[in-house]
Amino acid sequence: MLSIANLPTDLYIDGSWAKPAQPRSFTVSDPATGERVAQVADAGLDDARAAVDAAAAALPAWRDTPPRTRAEVLRKVHLLMLERLEELARIITLENGKPLADSRAETRYAAEFFRWYSEEACRNLGSVSQAPAGGYRILVQHQPIGVVALVTPWNFPSAMGARKIAPALAAGCSVLVKPASLTPLSMLALADILAEAGVPDGVVNIVPTSRSGPLVDLWLHDPRVRLVSFTGSTEVGRILLKAAADQVLKTPMELGGNAPFLVLDDADVEAAVDGAMIAKMRNMGEACTAANRFYVGAGVYDAFVRAFAERMRAQKIGHGLDEANQVGSLIDAATRDKVEELVQDAVARGARVLCGGERLPGPGYFYPPTVLGDVPADSRVLSEEIFGPVAPIVRVASEDEMVELANGTEYGLAAYLYTRDLAKGLKLAERLEFGMVALNRGLVSDPAAPFGGVKQSGLGREGSWEGMQEYMETKYVAVEW
Ligand code: NAD
Repeated sequence: MLSIANLPTDLYIDGSWAKPAQPRSFTVSDPATGERVAQVADAGLDDARAAVDAAAAALPAWRDTPPRTRAEVLRKVHLLMLERLEELARIITLENGKPLADSRAETRYAAEFFRWYSEEACRNLGSVSQAPAGGYRILVQHQPIGVVALVTPWNFPSAMGARKIAPALAAGCSVLVKPASLTPLSMLALADILAEAGVPDGVVNIVPTSRSGPLVDLWLHDPRVRLVSFTGSTEVGRILLKAAADQVLKTPMELGGNAPFLVLDDADVEAAVDGAMIAKMRNMGEACTAANRFYVGAGVYDAFVRAFAERMRAQKIGHGLDEANQVGSLIDAATRDKVEELVQDAVARGARVLCGGERLPGPGYFYPPTVLGDVPADSRVLSEEIFGPVAPIVRVASEDEMVELANGTEYGLAAYLYTRDLAKGLKLAERLEFGMVALNRGLVSDPAAPFGGVKQSGLGREGSWEGMQEYMETKYVAVEW
C-alpha cells in the first residue's frame, strides 16, 4: 500500500523507476510546516530524451490498440484512484497545503476524467459525405496526433495531469508529463496505478525536474513530439507558444484568470453567498477559476457583504491534514507575500477590511480569509490574479456597468453571475467575454464540460468530447466512388 513513507521519488520512464543520468535531486516540502516530505529525482536533458525514446517506441502499439481496450484500461484507472482516494488525497495535502476535504474532491475530480474518457475513447466519430459536385465522397476521420508533452501546475497536482493524460490516452497518444516542481508527488503516485490498470510501458512517462525551461524546450524541439499541452501562468504559456512555433506544434493552453463574480440586485443573496464561498475558497483561492473580484448591485450590497464576511471569518485555518481545518497553507512565501501586497495596496487606496487582512505567523504560509469592501477601481487586486483567500468587493450601480467592468481584463477564463431572472442571466452570459460562465452556481469544473478560456486565458478546451479532439488530427480522404 502506498504511504508517505514509501512514495515513489524516481523518474518513471518506459514503465520503470529510474535514477537520473546525473545523480541529482530536489526537495519537496510541506508548505504548512516547511518540513521535507520527499527528495525527488531531478531529471536532466538525457532523461528527457530517454522519455521521448520510450514514448515514441510505445506509440505504434498503443495507437493500434482497439479503442474498447484503451477504454477498459482507463476505466480501471478511475476505479483504482477511488480505491486509493485517501492515500492520494493525503499526498496532495502534504505537497500542496490544501485541506483534506479539497484534496479528496480533487482526487474524485481527477479520477472522473479517466471515467469520462474511458467512455469517450469509443466515440471517435468521423463522417462520410457526398462531394457537392457529385461523384466522389469526402471521408473524414480523426487520428491520434502522436507523442505529446504535458506540463502541469502545482495548484491541482493530480487533476491537472489527469485532465490531460486521460484524453491523450483515449485518443491513442503516448505522453511525456512534466509535473510542477513544487508538487511532483501526485503524478508519481499515479504511475503505479496506470501500470496496474494496464497502461503499457512507455505510454506514460513522468519526469520531474527543477530545470523545467531547458527540459521542456528539448521536448518542444524533438521532431517526434507533436503537441504541447500546458496549464499554468500566462507568462510561461507565452514562452512555450513561442518555442512551439519552431516545430509548429499544436498548443492547447490553460492559462491565468481574473474571474468576476456578479451579484445582481434581484439575486438570491443567500445562494450568492454559498456560491461565493465555493468560487473564492475552493483551494484557498489558488485556482485559475477562483472568483477574483466581486461586483455587487447597490440594492443587495450591504446584505451580501455582511453575510459573506461572516462566513469567511468563521473559517478554521491550520494544517490541511487536520480534518477540522477548512483553510490550509498557501503554496509558498512568494504567493503569500503577493497576497499580502495586493491587500496592502487596496487598503492604502481606501478599501475597507471587513475580515482578515493580516498575514498569520509561521511556520507555513497562512493567510486568513479576507473580505475588502468598497475597493477603489485602480486597486491592483482587481486587475491581477490574487491566488489567495482574498475577496475584493465593489458596489456597482447598473448591470451594464457590471458587464463592462467584468470584461475589462486581458483574461477570459471564468465568470460567475447570480440573478433570479434566468432569461436575463442567459442574455448577460452571452455578453461576458469568458470561456465559461457559472449562472447561479459557484463551480464550473466538470469533466463532461469544455473547460477553457478566451483572450489571454488560453487556447483550446479540456474535458468533454472537445478535450479528446485536441489530441487528434483530422484526416480527410477523397474517395472516388
Ligand atoms: P507556472 O506557469 O509557473 O508553472 C506551470 C508549469 O510550468 C510548472 O510545471 C512549471 O514547473 C513549468 N514551468 C515554469 N517555467 C517554465 C519554462 N520556462 N518552460 C517550461 N515549463 C516551465 O504556473 P504555476 O505557478 O505552477 O500555476 C499557477 C498558474 O496556473 C496561475 O496563473 C493559474 O491561473 C494557472 N492555472 C490555470 C489553469 C487553467 O486551466 N486555465 C488551471 C490551473 C492553474
